[in-house]
Amino acid sequence: MPKKLIVQKYGGTSVANTGRIENAARRVVSYKKRGYDVVVVTSALGDTTDELLGLASKLTKSPSEREIDMLISTGEQVSVALLAMAVHKLGEEAISLTGAQVGIITDSSHMKARIIDINVARIRKELAEGKVVIVAGFQGMNMDREITTLGRGGSDLTAVALAKVLKAEACEIYTDVAGVYTADPRIVKNARKLDRISYEEMLELASLGAQVLQARSVEVASKFNIPIHVRSSLSAKVGTLITKEVKAMEEVLVSGITVTKGEAKVTLRDVPDKPGIAARIFGDIAKNGINIDMIIQNVSRTGHTDLSFTTTASDIQKTMRLVKKITKSVGAKEATFDKDIAKVSVVGIGMRNHSGVAATMFRALASKKINIDMISTSEIKISCVVRKKKAEEAVRTLHKAFKLGR
Ligand code: ADP
Ligand code: ASP
Ligand code: MG
Repeated sequence: MPKKLIVQKYGGTSVANTGRIENAARRVVSYKKRGYDVVVVTSALGDTTDELLGLASKLTKSPSEREIDMLISTGEQVSVALLAMAVHKLGEEAISLTGAQVGIITDSSHMKARIIDINVARIRKELAEGKVVIVAGFQGMNMDREITTLGRGGSDLTAVALAKVLKAEACEIYTDVAGVYTADPRIVKNARKLDRISYEEMLELASLGAQVLQARSVEVASKFNIPIHVRSSLSAKVGTLITKEVKAMEEVLVSGITVTKGEAKVTLRDVPDKPGIAARIFGDIAKNGINIDMIIQNVSRTGHTDLSFTTTASDIQKTMRLVKKITKSVGAKEATFDKDIAKVSVVGIGMRNHSGVAATMFRALASKKINIDMISTSEIKISCVVRKKKAEEAVRTLHKAFKLGR
């Protein structure tokens, strides 16, 4: 009978220094001793990825994306090698491998590459020889043997994808909190750990700012029905299980509050109010690969209207260059941007069958004199754009209003 196989991913804080690496190694070895085949994925040590990106941005405003991938993929190569040594020290066999060595094949979109295929032969061979296999997270290789990375937080995706192709019994994500909480525990002190959450809700939470899992990893887990267990690398306690929707989950109205600070609002003023204008504006924006989140158009009074949308703040310069051109070509008056915004969201499957969530949300924000700039809704979430400096207060207020605390 084949052995039970487990995939364990250790995040940056969980391998931040040699002490933490030894801690991770002890856990890995304990599973090996219990008879598991263990495949480990690690992130880069601590804040290494940010530090490497900081170095690049000191040199240039527009670095080559290929070179960025060459640069930031080094972080994970360091952590896998050190973890392998720590496992050796405990008397077990282990081997570290880069994404390319494993055969994690991706497309060519640097910094946000998609996994096309994973060759399991090398991993299977090493496992068969009794080794713990330690794979560098966040990275792959395209068909031209160029190194690629999978987007920030991408080690989660490496872990889920490996769990899928290796038919793992479990996929554990070890991090610096005890699981998925009703809000970021750094912002809300009495946030509550969730025992279970559905893929659908987790995907919304992750997409709307809950950093604890990369949204794309949740998408893949959901597609292939791979349960994820998010837990702390510093304790033996059970964390949060992310699975298919189960009946009991529907009784919960709201499961979490999130905040995203990485967006900016762009406004086009006095846009001629005619058919086809929005299509032209957003057509051009889409053609240039700029992602749009919320869109608001005001009521037109004088045959002109104002149009606002939110987009990623990090490439606002590029967006504004384009938007200024568009403004001219459609005959609008001017375009401005505002980076001082944040988006707070309330997420929950229970919203489908209950009304009143929006009203409670708006009332709670109003009670703290927090002005709402934009609103968007979907079946299981409501998001409001507020001033950035009010964002954390908004999260705490909503957490309380929906009685989510411990
Ligand atoms: P890792 O390095 O392990 O991948 P991350 O920093 O990417 O860890 O994610 C863990 C962090 O996510 C936590 O320290 C926590 O502050 C933050 N976080 C944000 N929202 C949530 C949430 N709803 N539940 C748990 N953690 C959250
Ligand atoms: N080190 C990468 C990042 O910081 C990948 C990860 O941590 O998952 O985004
Ligand atoms: Mg992470």
